[in-house]
Amino acid sequence: MNESLSLAGRHALVCGASSGIGRATALALAAHGAQVTALARSGDKLETLIPELKEAGAGGARSLKCDLSLHQSVQAALDRLVLDVGPVHILINNAGGPRGGPILDASAEEFTRAFHLHVLTAHLLTRSLLPGMVEQGFGRIVNIISTSVKEPIAGLGVSNTIRAAMAAWSKTVSKELPSGITINNVLPGFTATDRLASLKEQVAERRAIQPAQVEAEWLASVPEGRLGRPEEVAALAAFLCTPAASYIRGQSIAADGGRLNGI
Ligand code: NAD
Repeated sequence: MNESLSLAGRHALVCGASSGIGRATALALAAHGAQVTALARSGDKLETLIPELKEAGAGGARSLKCDLSLHQSVQAALDRLVLDVGPVHILINNAGGPRGGPILDASAEEFTRAFHLHVLTAHLLTRSLLPGMVEQGFGRIVNIISTSVKEPIAGLGVSNTIRAAMAAWSKTVSKELPSGITINNVLPGFTATDRLASLKEQVAERRAIQPAQVEAEWLASVPEGRLGRPEEVAALAAFLCTPAASYIRGQSIAADGGRLNGI
């Protein structure tokens, strides 16, 4: 592999790695040769991922069972990981998105829970792992957020709000990180994962229409004319982690089949 795309000798921590975009990103980083630690709540799902990571080319693969909303256990898990494996060079901040629905139906508690799981967890992980990145002179932080950062999506009020907070947090962090350590946001469009399937069901039920009609309406706004595959989002996330992406910093980049309207 071209050296500027190789992640051999780099250790990546991928959050929310048991399904969807997180899982695909773990595999994409493995294909670039990284040593991958896959974090999620479900140990069973992670165990099936480990042999796939090795087969994809990972320089090592291990699972880390952890609930990202429980910050004390996250901190303890990180401390153990760094002791056992060494510093983390690549952090993928990713977790399940908040429930859909009209924003005026959302309780204050829903916003608080989502802010905690997304923004505060990313902040905790970044602060904990940054000293190791600084010591190594190399670091990559990639946040999996949403195109709603650029154009809020109707019916995803809590998500729209939290993603904007996350993007503002990330931009601010990008100004404070030292040279050699970057942070960027990947904005997936409609991507065929468990999350999208459940959103489709929720919207169909709310509007009393068929899920297929919901999907057809979504696709009418996508010039590529189909849903994205998790691997297509993961390819962008993995590229942002390579040495080749060293001058890309503080950006929000969409993999959305052309759906966003902004230039
Ligand atoms: P997904 O539901 O398939 O995967 C989410 C992953 O996060 C799973 O592995 C889940 O177990 C894990 N997770 C959730 N809560 C966790 C917790 N508390 N602790 C540890 N792990 C936890 O979702 P996805 O479609 O892959 O989406 C990933 C992110 O991208 C989400 O934030 C989602 O909202 C966002 N996104 C997805 C789409 C899409 O179309 N799929 C579009 C835009 C944005």
